Amino acid sequence: MNDKEIFNRIFPTACRYMRVDPIKVDVEFNDKAFEAFGMLMDNVRFKGQHEFMSVKNLMGIDTELTSQSSDLSFYLEGCKDVVIFATTLGVNVDAFSKKLQANDMSRAVIYDSLASALLEFMTDEYEESLNLGAHTFRFAPGYGDIPIQLNYIIIDALSISKKIGIYKASNNMMLPQKSMITFCGMGKEVAPTCAHCIRLKNCSLRKDNLRCYNS
Ligand code: SF4
Repeated sequence: MNDKEIFNRIFPTACRYMRVDPIKVDVEFNDKAFEAFGMLMDNVRFKGQHEFMSVKNLMGIDTELTSQSSDLSFYLEGCKDVVIFATTLGVNVDAFSKKLQANDMSRAVIYDSLASALLEFMTDEYEESLNLGAHTFRFAPGYGDIPIQLNYIIIDALSISKKIGIYKASNNMMLPQKSMITFCGMGKEVAPTCAHCIRLKNCSLRKDNLRCYNS
């Protein structure tokens, strides 16, 4: 897939993060976004790591935290194992983002949204390369009621800092900033649709006719 094709794939997601309708953006915005995307691709150094774990071990990784979440049990119901992913775009993306923020805030916002969308896309590609068979969609600490502090527990448990350079930062953030820890349950297909979502009845995105996934 060439850069233009990747851009076309991630642009709708980036627009969603910016809360703009990708169908309604003008040529000038599109060109500006593609230019920011070029800068982003120059800076990306993607790294990924994955580990299989039983649901029992995941739940036991920090019972004080995992027992706070009903979403975890909801999404992993019927799964025996999970696969945990840690992925990052690397430190150069953050450094360039800071430069843009100092000089051109609107471009910085576009760059940041594209970076988030690219991380999702590259993690999707990484996941697909594993040919996992039946599995749920990926979700992450911070999604629904899953405690975001689980990120830190998982970073330590899987030696993620040593292996691919994702570190704990303050306020439950990670460094590099464009990094994520996600997991999916193995053994059953659950697509990311509202019909499968525990938030269906009180979702703020749906009230604005938005979705948290690409339809
Ligand atoms: S948009 Fe749908 S899937 Fe996403 S959080 Fe809302 S209800 Fe759930």
